[in-house]
Amino acid sequence: MNNSPRKVAALALGVAASLVVTAAPAGAAAVRFTPGAPGAGDPYFPDMGNGGYDAAHYDIALSYDPASKGISAVTTIKARATQHLSRFNLDFQGPLTISALTVDGKKAAYRRTGAQELEITPAKGLRKGTRFTVRVAYSGVPQGVDDPALGRSGWIPTEDGAIMLNQPIGAATVYPVNDHPTDKATYTFTLTAPDGLTTLANGDPAGRWSKGGRTTTRWVMNRPMASELSMIAIGKYAVRTGRTGRGVPSVTATDSRMGISEQLAKDFHDQTGQYQDWLASLYGRYPFSSTGGIVVKAGVGYALETQGRPVYALGHRPGTIPRPDLLVHELAHQWFGDSVTPERWADIWLNEGFATYSEWLYFEKFTGKSAQQTFDELYATPADDDLWKPVTADPGRDDIFHSTVYDRGAMTLHMLRRTIGDRAFFRLVKLWPTVNRYGTASTADFIAFAEKVSGKQLDDLFKKWVYTSGKPSL
Ligand SMILES: [Zn+2]
Repeated sequence: MNNSPRKVAALALGVAASLVVTAAPAGAAAVRFTPGAPGAGDPYFPDMGNGGYDAAHYDIALSYDPASKGISAVTTIKARATQHLSRFNLDFQGPLTISALTVDGKKAAYRRTGAQELEITPAKGLRKGTRFTVRVAYSGVPQGVDDPALGRSGWIPTEDGAIMLNQPIGAATVYPVNDHPTDKATYTFTLTAPDGLTTLANGDPAGRWSKGGRTTTRWVMNRPMASELSMIAIGKYAVRTGRTGRGVPSVTATDSRMGISEQLAKDFHDQTGQYQDWLASLYGRYPFSSTGGIVVKAGVGYALETQGRPVYALGHRPGTIPRPDLLVHELAHQWFGDSVTPERWADIWLNEGFATYSEWLYFEKFTGKSAQQTFDELYATPADDDLWKPVTADPGRDDIFHSTVYDRGAMTLHMLRRTIGDRAFFRLVKLWPTVNRYGTASTADFIAFAEKVSGKQLDDLFKKWVYTSGKPSL
C-alpha cells in the first residue's frame, strides 16, 4: 500500500464521480464497470491469479469421505474490489462440481472457462473499494496437477486420506482462489473426517469436536499466506504438541504407516523447535504464531515449506525422519519464501537460494564444514554442466525448481557474503525479512536493499551471478 499524491487525487476523483452519478439524470452513468483481468500478469503462469480485487480471507470448510475419496466443501472468500468490477475471476480447476455460488449472499452468474478460470458476474457491479464476500459450495473427487516439468501438486490422495501441497499451481484443484503469491490472505480451515482420521492444516489449532462418528478440527492462519503455501493433511497420524525453546507453539505429526518410533517422532518434534530457534537467531523473530511439521508417505518425493508447518513427503525409508539439514531448509523458508514472498515466479531463487544457504550455514555451525567448502565443491562443477545453464533470476517456467535456482542461488549469497563481509551480510539477512515481513519482493528489490545495507555497489556481482547464463569467473 502506498498513498502517493497521485492515488489520493484518483480517490478524490472517484468521490467526485460518484457524486455526479447521484446528481445526474438516469442513464448518465459516470462510473464504468469493467471485468477484472483473468491473470495476475506473471509471465511464467499467465492464467494464475486474477485482477480487479484483493482477497483478504479464505474460509475453507471441507469434509472428506474415505469411501469415495471425495470432498464436499464450502469456500468463503472475503475480498475488496480494486476497480469498478462488472465481473471477476477466481482460479478453480479440475472435476469438482459447483452446486451454489453467491456474492454478498445473492446468487451470482458464473461460468468455467479455459483450464482454470471461474468467471463470476455478480447481480450488480462492485464499486472500487467495496468489500464483498464470495461463497462457493462444491463437491467431487479433486484431481491434483501432474505437470511434466513441475511434478505433482494440489490434491494428492494417500492410502488413508490425502494431502494438499500447492507449489506452484495446485491450490485451485481444491478451492476457488486468486492463485498467485502476490495476493496473500489469512485463512481458516474447518476440516471434517470420520473419527480415527486426523485432519491438519496451516496455523493454530482452534477447536476440535465430534458428532455422529465424524470429527472436525479448525485451524487458523492469522498471518498473510500465499495460496501456494496453504496445506491440508488427512490421514492416520501420531500428533505431538508443545513449544520450542523460544516458546513458539508447535504441532508435529508423523504418518502412522511409516513405522516411525515414538523416540524418532519426538526427535523430529524437538529438532524442529531447536533449528527453528537457531534460525530465528540468524533471521530475526519467527514470523508466524505456531510451527511444526508433517512427515507423510505420499509418493511425491519432495518436502515443501507450507506456511508455519512444512510437509516432508519424501518417500523416506521406513522408520526414518528427515535429516536436520532438510528441516533447516524448510524452516528457513518460513522467513524466505513464506513471510517474504517473491513478486514473480522468476524470483524464486530468493526462496531457494536462502533455504539452501541456510543448509550451508547449518553445516558450518553444526558439522564443521565451512560454507566456503560447500561453495568450492559446487564451483568445481564443470563449465558445460547443466547447473550453469539457466539464468538464476529468470530460469524459465519449466525450470523454477532447477538446481541453478537452489545451488547457484546459494552460491550467489555466499559471493555476496564474501564481497560485503560477515558483519554486513548477517545484518542484511536479518533486516531483509524484518523489513519485508508478510510482503512480496523482487530480485531488484533485494539488490537495492543489499547495496543500501552494505554501502557497496553490487550490480556487477548480481549481473554475473543471477542475470547471466554460464559459469561465472571468480
Ligand atoms: Zn526449498
